[in-house]
Amino acid sequence: MSKSYWKTWSATLAKRDGGYRCAYCGAALYEPSNAPATPYTGTIDHVTPRSLGGQTVTDNLVLCCSRCNNEKANMPHPKWQKHLKERRFQAWELSHRKRK
Ligand SMILES: [Zn+2]
Repeated sequence: MSKSYWKTWSATLAKRDGGYRCAYCGAALYEPSNAPATPYTGTIDHVTPRSLGGQTVTDNLVLCCSRCNNEKANMPHPKWQKHLKERRFQAWELSHRKRK
């Protein structure tokens, strides 16, 4: 996703969604221009991918980190939600095991 998308949409989306956080994993996002690329560099994601007919309109866009954006790629949204759920569960399991 190019930086011009970020410039055009990030302020609107951050205002709507309550800040510069990844819509999928909740990570605080870095401004793409101010930092070297990290897994938490801010990107704009098409909820329904463009390849599946998703449009570049506010209703179909969210802020997300580059890690989630890369993992999601062109997954349809329902498949991605399932993937996220599994990822959260694995993270929960790991932290749970560590505490024991
Ligand atoms: Zn994320």
